[in-house]
Amino acid sequence: MKIDTKVIHAGQQPDPTTGAVMTPVYQTSTYAQQHPGVAEWEYSRTHNPTRTALQDCLAALEGGKHGVCFASGLAAVDTVIRTLSPGDHVVCGDDVYGGTYRLFTTVFAKFGISFDFVDLSNQDVEIPAHTKLVWAETPTNPLLKVSDIASLAQKAHAVGALLAVDNTFATPVFQRPLEMGADIVVHSTTKYLGGHSDVVGGILITSNDELAEQFTTLQNSVGAVPGPWDCFLTLRGVKTLSVRMQRHDENAKALVEWLKNHDEVKTVLYPGFGGMVSFVLKGDLDAAIRFVKATKIFILAESLGGVESLIELPAIMTHASVPPEVRAEIGIDDGLIRLSVGIEHPLDQKADLEAAFIAARG
Ligand SMILES: *Cc1c(COP(=O)(O)O)cnc(C)c1O
Repeated sequence: MKIDTKVIHAGQQPDPTTGAVMTPVYQTSTYAQQHPGVAEWEYSRTHNPTRTALQDCLAALEGGKHGVCFASGLAAVDTVIRTLSPGDHVVCGDDVYGGTYRLFTTVFAKFGISFDFVDLSNQDVEIPAHTKLVWAETPTNPLLKVSDIASLAQKAHAVGALLAVDNTFATPVFQRPLEMGADIVVHSTTKYLGGHSDVVGGILITSNDELAEQFTTLQNSVGAVPGPWDCFLTLRGVKTLSVRMQRHDENAKALVEWLKNHDEVKTVLYPGFGGMVSFVLKGDLDAAIRFVKATKIFILAESLGGVESLIELPAIMTHASVPPEVRAEIGIDDGLIRLSVGIEHPLDQKADLEAAFIAARG
């Protein structure tokens, strides 16, 4: 089955009681038992039918056997690290999502897990022998660097490490890491999968039964589960994932061509697919601030992946938690502007940015 069909049908059947075509919101904390201890469903931290439908749907999109949903993308990231033990070593991309960087360096480093931050898009990157986990984000945020997932999987497996890929930016429409050898796929479903900027969530997907068992146990033991309404909204959003990604991609490509030839743009960063575009504006930080404050269709906000266009300044917004010297080292310039290109009409998007170029001149 093609992904365009899976986004609508995978993991879902008409409701067995009523025939409802859309999976209902099972807004219940507990379930009646036929006999003490005998029940298909017991308690909603452990299982909820709306959540199960979402988990099965997203797992199918990534070509994985198991999906395990969480209350946020970071709760999903957190769960992967909880499978490690003190003394374990993680190799992580050097421009990962700011919140992932903060979780690794401020929460987990003090539990004796060590992290190296390296450029995983470098073909010659080496994975040290004692590594337990390689954490890759590709394309990266906000520099949109691309890593070779198959090669990273080989290098990780050669030292007995697992490869986790945060696939939030690409989505399974453009990239399916499990098919290239990754062990775990991570999503912030808050972004493209939900797609409407109205719900926060996360998921882990794997075809490894043992890992899935660990994730499910942690999901139930730690309890960072999404509620049924959140799962319903995400499931609803996912139905249009294919058509949305097509439009995000077309609109972004049109803007990239235009920005590349714009006099006031120093560089344009674009991985060749998807809806995320970064560019460096000529001029200082103040010019960049004037730019992002001037747009109207591109809303000045963190996050990404919704139907509406968003604009932000990583240095003082999404990546403010990354120390300035680290930002400078990895190339997050003060004038770097990140666009999440929405699905509005491309001519309106262009006109909005053109007005911002004028405003930025001051
Ligand atoms: C947003 C994001 C996260 C964190 O997800 P939340 O849902 O905000 O907790 C992780 N990785 C990437 C690439 C993201 O964009």
